[in-house]
Amino acid sequence: MIDPCFNPNDKMLTVDEALHFLLERATPIVDKEQVDLFSARGRVLAEDVHSTINVPPADNTAMDGYALRAADVAKGTGLTVSQRIPAGTVGKRLNAGEAARIFTGAPIPEGADAVVMQEQCVQEGDSLTVNAEVCVGDHIRRAGEDIQAGAKILPAGTRLRPQDVGLIASVGIPKIAVWRKPRVAIFSTGDELVAPGEAVGPGQIYNSNRFILTGLLQTLDCEIIDLGSIPDSLAATVNALQEASKNADLIMTTGGVSVGEEDYVKAALDQLGSVDMWRVAMKPGKPVAFGKVANSAFLGLPGNPVSAFATFCLFARPFILRMMGIEDVMPRRMQVMADFDWPKEGPRREFVRAQLHTDEGVVKATLYPSQSSGVLTSTVWAHGLVEIPEHATVKRGDSITWLDFFELLS
Ligand code: AMP
Ligand code: MG
Repeated sequence: MIDPCFNPNDKMLTVDEALHFLLERATPIVDKEQVDLFSARGRVLAEDVHSTINVPPADNTAMDGYALRAADVAKGTGLTVSQRIPAGTVGKRLNAGEAARIFTGAPIPEGADAVVMQEQCVQEGDSLTVNAEVCVGDHIRRAGEDIQAGAKILPAGTRLRPQDVGLIASVGIPKIAVWRKPRVAIFSTGDELVAPGEAVGPGQIYNSNRFILTGLLQTLDCEIIDLGSIPDSLAATVNALQEASKNADLIMTTGGVSVGEEDYVKAALDQLGSVDMWRVAMKPGKPVAFGKVANSAFLGLPGNPVSAFATFCLFARPFILRMMGIEDVMPRRMQVMADFDWPKEGPRREFVRAQLHTDEGVVKATLYPSQSSGVLTSTVWAHGLVEIPEHATVKRGDSITWLDFFELLS
């Protein structure tokens, strides 16, 4: 159990302690808005959704074929095709000895109790021969089989995927109540940073974090307020934080969160609000800051691009999901087999970049050769992260914990 009173400045935090501390402080957004279904994907339901109708609305056929009375087929007498019922139309009552030509989705006519697939029938003129045994209910989809009128189809807090939006559409609802998107202000700190497209001088590097953060926030459908790069000075950092806090629910930065002389994030936050600086016992990662400026939460990620990426996935993502009104924010972990040895244990939890492949039906993970936090290529090569616990070694063939990028980047 994590002590809720611990002071995160006191010590190096474990990944779990840091996450617990953060999630305790994530305030869900309370403003609701209505969106139509075309803009609903990725949004989070602010209210339960109920159906007022049965889906399907009536008994209908699952096949192209003939609707008939099963008992007529058992008698072996010939059947007469008396009507044709394409989807979207309603047939007439079916009498004994009659069959209806019927197409997938069309309602079963009154009097019929089964459908026979067209492949098992021969129609000549109006007369029908059935070459199959037929039971009552064959190939009939029952009214309300998918959804019953009055049922709750989705709970508040659902982050809508395409199939969720489809389900809402299937009960005829055109608009839904969702929480407002989080507004996230971002800036990168560093005198050395240059924008792609500009000439890079001695000692300078291109700003990659700006694009990593932007993309990650786009996957969460956040509204982004991009303040660009900020030089390493107290005045510039204070300015940027003030500007960001005017509209943002959350301010996120990269770099400048160590305690070096050129790291101004802490000093600026001390001046404007509050901040906790942590050393998180993880690799890549380590320095992470959490604080407040006016009404905005603040999350400071490390400057190293791989560290910024990993700490976003592991801390910022669940934090933002919680802000969005979602309860279950933890990425799903799976077990796969190690196709590598990790002989040297360390005090920090490691999130190593790896690929998956299948070997004779077994899913195995292989590691990128360089796990340096300066090598962004490792994140591009990888399919996900292997989580290696503190003080653990791994031998080829061991079961290990896998975090897929499908999970972390969606
Ligand atoms: P810092 O945390 O500011 O000391 O930065 C750590 C390392 O990450 C340094 O090598 C920085 O040059 C690098 N870095 C910081 N910000 C960025 C950025 N936006 N894009 C690429 N590299 C960065
Ligand atoms: Mg820096």
